[in-house]
Amino acid sequence: MVSRRRFLAAGVALGAAPVFGQALPELVPPSAGRRVVIVGGGWGGLTAARHLRRLAPELEVLLIDRDAAFRSLPLSNQWLVERTPDALVQQDYTTAARAWGYRAIRAEVTAIDRERRRLHTAQGALGYDWLILAAGIRHDYSPWLGDDARAIDATRRFYPAGFMAGELDALKRKLAEFKGGDLLMTVPPPPLRCPPAPYERAVMIAWLLKTRRIKGRLILVDAGGGMQRFNRMFAERYKDQVVHLTHAAVKAIDPFRKVLSTEFEELKFDDAIIIPPQQAADLVWQAGLIETDAAGKPGAWAGFDPLHLHAIGDERVFLVGDLLGRASPLFGQYPKSAHMACQLGRIAAAEIAARSGGKLPQPELPESLCHVFTDVEPLEMMRIDARYRLRGDGLITQTVRQHEDPQPRGEDRQWAQGLYAEMLAPAEAR
Ligand SMILES: Cc1cc2nc3c(=O)[nH]c(=O)nc-3n(C[C@H](O)[C@H](O)[C@H](O)COP(=O)(O)OP(=O)(O)OC[C@H]3O[C@@H](n4cnc5c(N)ncnc54)[C@H](O)[C@@H]3O)c2cc1C
Repeated sequence: MVSRRRFLAAGVALGAAPVFGQALPELVPPSAGRRVVIVGGGWGGLTAARHLRRLAPELEVLLIDRDAAFRSLPLSNQWLVERTPDALVQQDYTTAARAWGYRAIRAEVTAIDRERRRLHTAQGALGYDWLILAAGIRHDYSPWLGDDARAIDATRRFYPAGFMAGELDALKRKLAEFKGGDLLMTVPPPPLRCPPAPYERAVMIAWLLKTRRIKGRLILVDAGGGMQRFNRMFAERYKDQVVHLTHAAVKAIDPFRKVLSTEFEELKFDDAIIIPPQQAADLVWQAGLIETDAAGKPGAWAGFDPLHLHAIGDERVFLVGDLLGRASPLFGQYPKSAHMACQLGRIAAAEIAARSGGKLPQPELPESLCHVFTDVEPLEMMRIDARYRLRGDGLITQTVRQHEDPQPRGEDRQWAQGLYAEMLAPAEAR
């Protein structure tokens, strides 16, 4: 059983859970053929939609997102501090849907009725033959703020994490308006999406403080020990701009008094970027898809079949992207990267296409690739590759390689362009 406190972590009211017997209007008229619904138009969901149309054109494909447009988190750290003239890539869902031949619907999915294979939204319900859940993550403020809804709301509004696309504009405004003093940023315990991202952002902010001669410090309150390359950077090149507190477990935050407490000290701050611990998106909890350990204790991420990506005990629901839990006892979770989400989206599409044709698909394993800036002037980059292999005993193994690149030439942009070409509408279709 998932505890009430854990379910409430992101402000989901148990009392608001829908009554499945209740008759809701049809959101979309039932189709004559078979239908795949994809919830979540991020990297995983968009890639799945496009490949499903290619692999199984006879299936009806619907993509649902609560937002009107896709927006990229990768490449956002440079954009936040105006290190690049490029706008953040953004595209209306209807444009991508028109280009690849599926339908996009803007709606918030409030519940999944897996028994009847129906989704509930505020505007109506709709049925599915297969569901791909690619709804990403939610923030879990409860370890630091308890159940205090007022404090959680204030922290979200005044100290946005910038780890979900909708939080980016507020964070950019905050950085543009920062005039000096102590700016605090938390690095939560793992797992989190793109683990190097808080450090890359810290380097960008340090560079901003240094080049604009702002009399301020970034206080990095880090639950872990950091990453070697970045630790060196903070200690050597940005020692006047960054105070890196490692192994500093946050105990509590008072967003009104602007105080963060760790086991050892109270830190007063002038402004903050609070990146809280992360969990699988609300819908994973609502749909009863949270993984359990060998003793039956629930975790915070989705349980899934690592070879075929379907939910445990439900081969009509496929799980994709950052919401996934353990892939293998040998290394734990896949890295929560956009590259990985796209690969998983393509694999889930191939699984459903094969099953719809009456075949059992061959297992296919993903890979991950991530570019991170480790300094700004001169520009330095690190590439992190992760590869996966199926061992004789059926377990997945992982190999991770890190490459340092002191002279990057736009490899991050080329990488992103490759993925955008797979999931967004091509230029001529816009
Ligand atoms: C600062 C930063 C930098 C990063 N840089 C990189 C990088 O360089 N390289 C890299 O590979 N990765 C990077 N990442 C990680 C990458 O952004 C994530 O791994 C990726 O977004 C995961 O994709 P997803 O499809 O699982 O989830 P998301 O992209 O989060 O998509 C989930 C979608 O589901 C929708 N949704 C959720 N719930 C509902 C609901 N109930 N109803 C309707 N819609 C719903 C949301 O609106 C959202 O559009 C970075 C992340 C951050 C924060």
